[in-house]
Amino acid sequence: MTAPQLIAGNWKMNGLLGAKAEVTALVQALNGRKHLPDILICPPATLLRALIDAVEQGSIRLGGQTCHAKPNGAHTGDISAEMLKDAGASCVIVGHSERRTDHKETSAEVAAQATAAWRAGLTAIICIGETEAERVSGKTETVLAAQIDGSVPTDATPQTTAVAYEPIWAIGTGKTASLADIEYAHAFIRQRMAAKLGATGSAIRLLYGGSVKPSNAKEILHAKGVDGVLVGGASLKATDFLAIIEGAKPG
Ligand code: PEP
Repeated sequence: MTAPQLIAGNWKMNGLLGAKAEVTALVQALNGRKHLPDILICPPATLLRALIDAVEQGSIRLGGQTCHAKPNGAHTGDISAEMLKDAGASCVIVGHSERRTDHKETSAEVAAQATAAWRAGLTAIICIGETEAERVSGKTETVLAAQIDGSVPTDATPQTTAVAYEPIWAIGTGKTASLADIEYAHAFIRQRMAAKLGATGSAIRLLYGGSVKPSNAKEILHAKGVDGVLVGGASLKATDFLAIIEGAKPG
């Protein structure tokens, strides 16, 4: 049986308590609907507790946006996977390009974060993707291969892991990759994952991320090899995120 598509929202550093109204509106709009995809919202960690009761009755799960590899300790400002779990998360994004750039996170650290997520009972969404410069100089495949090899632990399974292909030049820029680009990259990632992990690598969900919005979600979600989307800006408003969810294949 194929897993339902996964529609994941990454709120990044956006959202105060008032944003709970968006989640409540989304839960209400989804109430009673059948054949939904898997739905995940990753708010700032400060909001996890507050959003738990908003999603309790519905089909939305909550996630974190990163985690430290250790369960606890002297790491000021960091949050462990166990803490995210304790606050109500069931999933965590690791290796987002903004973390790789702003916090110089390496693929080895991202792999350790994924392992930490599993230790805490969270699923991990491992992000990979090339920059514009790497793309124009023909290095996309080399970069993706290195990120898969370095960031995806060999014991990843479809139950514990999803991989998000997020071309950095498409994140927050309004420039979406073409369907041909997405299908090509996903086929390459799939083949590399299968080479690394065997049959397991063929079953791990592959998400696309980069300027997904209501107007392009359906065609992206129906592109070959796309098992879901990771959505930044358009996940902040219930109406936009709902329209993206409605573009998914029936779950
Ligand atoms: C993201 O940050 O993961 C992302 C895909 O952002 P956006 O949808 O805003 O491009």
